[in-house]
Amino acid sequence: MNSLTVLDHPIVNHKLAMLRDENTSSPEFRKTLLELGHVISWPVFTHLDVVKKEITTPMEKTKQWVLTSPFPCIVSILRAGNGMADALSATLPEAPIGYIGMQRNSDTHLAEPYFKKLPDQIEDRQIILVDPMLATGSSASQAADFLKRDGAKNILFVCLVAAPEGIAYFHKQHAEIPIITAALDRELDENSYILPGLGDAGDRIYGTE
Ligand code: URA
Repeated sequence: MNSLTVLDHPIVNHKLAMLRDENTSSPEFRKTLLELGHVISWPVFTHLDVVKKEITTPMEKTKQWVLTSPFPCIVSILRAGNGMADALSATLPEAPIGYIGMQRNSDTHLAEPYFKKLPDQIEDRQIILVDPMLATGSSASQAADFLKRDGAKNILFVCLVAAPEGIAYFHKQHAEIPIITAALDRELDENSYILPGLGDAGDRIYGTE
């Protein structure tokens, strides 16, 4: 319950510093996000469920830990989640990828859904829900609600930068979903941006500011 993992690793921190830097261009930002996603995929995937399976090697029968079936899937919260989904999927290409579109209402700062496309058997899969920024927690929480409405029971939320407010909100709604983040930042500003943060992740990935 209320599990929070902050990945503290020299390479994670180094690449995060590049993402935070306002002088990092959009192409560099995209490339670094992909690299950071590759680095965090290993600690993230230690949270995957496994079962023992009997295997026959050329020598003898043995039992080996394997990932559960149906395979875990990645669900990206559009649009900024896509950079992370691509990176995690490079390590786990067998994982199908779903998408949930959430957008922030600029007046209320609350997330509103506009799109959903998920892999089949979502109720039986372990789901790695990704969005680089956990700010108010509203998008992530609504996305988890969406998944649960479709029967999802086993969700892991992965982000790069989390605000204490977002963690508290998300865990209030979904206490059983572990959060894994590369960094825990100080607070939100009056527009619900994370401080120190890295700005608008979607705009910085796609150069759309
Ligand atoms: N979304 C972002 O992209 N950045 C923030 O700081 C908060 C929400």
